[in-house]
Amino acid sequence: MNEPISFDVLGLDPLILQAVAEAGYTVPTPIQQQAIPLVLEGRDLMAMAQTGTGKTAAFTLPVLQRLLPHANTSASPARHPIRALVLTPTRELAIQVQESVQTYGKHVPLRSAVVFGGVDIKTQLPDLTKGVEILVATPGRLLDHVESRNLRLNQVQVLILDEADRMLDMGFLPDLKRILSLLPRQRQTLLFSATFSDEIKRLAHDFLQNPVTVEVARRNTAAETVQQSVLMVASDDKRAVLGDIIRSRGARQVLVFTRTKLMAARLARYLERDGISADAIHGDKSQQERLKALEAFKEGRITALVATDVAARGLDIDQLPLVVNYELPPNAEDYVHRIGRTGRAGARGAAISLVDPDEERLLKDIEKLLKREFPRERAGGVARSPESRKPATADRSKNVTTEEEWFYKPYQPSDVAEPPKERLPLRPGKPKKQVAALLGGLKPDSGNVESHSDETQRL
Ligand code: AMP
Repeated sequence: MNEPISFDVLGLDPLILQAVAEAGYTVPTPIQQQAIPLVLEGRDLMAMAQTGTGKTAAFTLPVLQRLLPHANTSASPARHPIRALVLTPTRELAIQVQESVQTYGKHVPLRSAVVFGGVDIKTQLPDLTKGVEILVATPGRLLDHVESRNLRLNQVQVLILDEADRMLDMGFLPDLKRILSLLPRQRQTLLFSATFSDEIKRLAHDFLQNPVTVEVARRNTAAETVQQSVLMVASDDKRAVLGDIIRSRGARQVLVFTRTKLMAARLARYLERDGISADAIHGDKSQQERLKALEAFKEGRITALVATDVAARGLDIDQLPLVVNYELPPNAEDYVHRIGRTGRAGARGAAISLVDPDEERLLKDIEKLLKREFPRERAGGVARSPESRKPATADRSKNVTTEEEWFYKPYQPSDVAEPPKERLPLRPGKPKKQVAALLGGLKPDSGNVESHSDETQRL
């Protein structure tokens, strides 16, 4: 890795450097160090960088610089054609990118706007009609605007595909191809992706010209600042173990991942009943509800934010101290994305995975991808804290049979005293010690700054 250098030597305009300094950045991150000079040279780029590496500034800063000669204060829309187009997989990432464009571009007269689905298309018209040099968009809504003739893409000089792997995962390839066909052939294309799958390489081969590859993390490696651990927990016990982890660490901000929207909603409700303030973000929630939940999380009014993988995409949360994988993702690469939410910008973070024996195969996939093995700690028979929660209703504490019911069933050590055969053996008697051992080596949150910003979902 290169030695840290100053932003001043990258060839950026003083107006941009001023905004960078005001954002509090002193040295460029490795991806910024590598990408900025190449983008300024006009090269196409294939950049492998996860969220949290500073990738947004890595493309935004040099793009602002490249567009500076076109900056003008004319009121005529014709003087403000779209010159840079940023495509993102989710509306929340789009919002976040445009916020970065505004932050870094606040001293230059370049206009930007963001368009994404899920909101009334008409509300996005005023900005487009006035004219913007930089447009951040999700693919579907961009095409809606193209079809309605609300914008033209024939003067785009720079195209940025942000989180390209996720765009492909979400099935945007046909939309991307359509959009690419509307752009001038003569342009600069920057592709950012957390991983370089064969599909991504094909996309780059088809649409980039002689790209330079830059890479800031080893292939599919997880952030080294994240302390990862695996607790083997029977599914039925996970919710109680999660509560214990949050309480025993005194955690004030925990991002919890589930596989399904239903589980995210249920788990958030369960945590609330268990005395831990929580909310869920997933695709069934309105944009407004999700933004509200995120805001509350960001401001520390919610301790646990429960999210699905898609919903968490684009979450920009600095130095989040703790991520819990309540369920492992079906896709090993999503594990890397998930834990990338902590240990950012050099801060230490912890990622704890609660793994039911049924998920062993998924754990092995993750280990294969990361080329490491996790010691399997055991978490069974973990006692609840003394102020053990009451069931929400009497019914839920009895005759637990349905999925809904087991979920709400209050955890008691006796719940798992006679586990089914496939469950892990319990070690009753030393429950608190077990928690301490399970969490062994994990530092409390206090050393980590807990600040924040937003999140996610598809258009
Ligand atoms: P990104 O990978 O673009 O999502 O950025 C992750 C976080 O790093 C964002 O909160 C940025 O504000 C922050 N960041 C970006 N560049 C720098 C830098 N050079 N120094 C410190 N923080 C940065």
